[in-house]
Amino acid sequence: MRIVLLGAPGSGKGTQAKKLSADKHVPHISTGDMLRAAIAEGTRFGQKAKATVDAGNLVSDDIMLGIIAERLGQDDAQDGFILDGFPRTRQQATDLDELLDELSVPLDAAVLMDVDFDVLLKRLTGRRTCSKTGKLLNIYFSSQEELDAVVAAGGELIQREDDNEETIGNRLEVYRENTEPVVEFYRGRNRLTSVDADGAIDEVYTRLTAALG
Ligand code: AMP
Repeated sequence: MRIVLLGAPGSGKGTQAKKLSADKHVPHISTGDMLRAAIAEGTRFGQKAKATVDAGNLVSDDIMLGIIAERLGQDDAQDGFILDGFPRTRQQATDLDELLDELSVPLDAAVLMDVDFDVLLKRLTGRRTCSKTGKLLNIYFSSQEELDAVVAAGGELIQREDDNEETIGNRLEVYRENTEPVVEFYRGRNRLTSVDADGAIDEVYTRLTAALG
């Protein structure tokens, strides 16, 4: 399975990609996670990328292509991958096509996780991560038991630095301007599958796996 998951910030790409990755035994490659890891490690690159990521702006296409080319060359990606957060610009989409052509591994599908704007806002402003397990929760959608269990186990509910309201507004604008053209790129080539991404995680997952066939 070689797929690209597309969708606005908060559309649930990361959550669904993790489930799919565990089920299908292919790596979940999230450029956002990779950038956050570099920032947390304080590498030279991470230090340079931090301001861009914190503001919700895009890291340059050249740098992202380098990161993805290296990642797709690793052993665990040889039998498939789920890309989450890449491509995010038309240029990245073209670059990815060229890279996959060179590797002779065509994409199976580009899947758009489609969700209404007001749901996106609640997902983003309410999103929290358990500091101990990395589990994703949401103060609006997770049950009180789930939220309490994190605290009872000694974990904290951490909010991503770029999930504050100002940055969220910018990320959604950046998506509209830069990434919606990527959706059109795949639609125009008859390679786009759309999934209704509104609803409970398991419901959306059932729709996603049905769409993938
Ligand atoms: P995400 O976790 O996918 O929402 O990504 C978090 C942030 O990382 C984005 O707001 C961007 O600043 C940066 N980022 C992630 N993927 C890319 C990409 N493909 N191109 C440029 N910047 C990216």
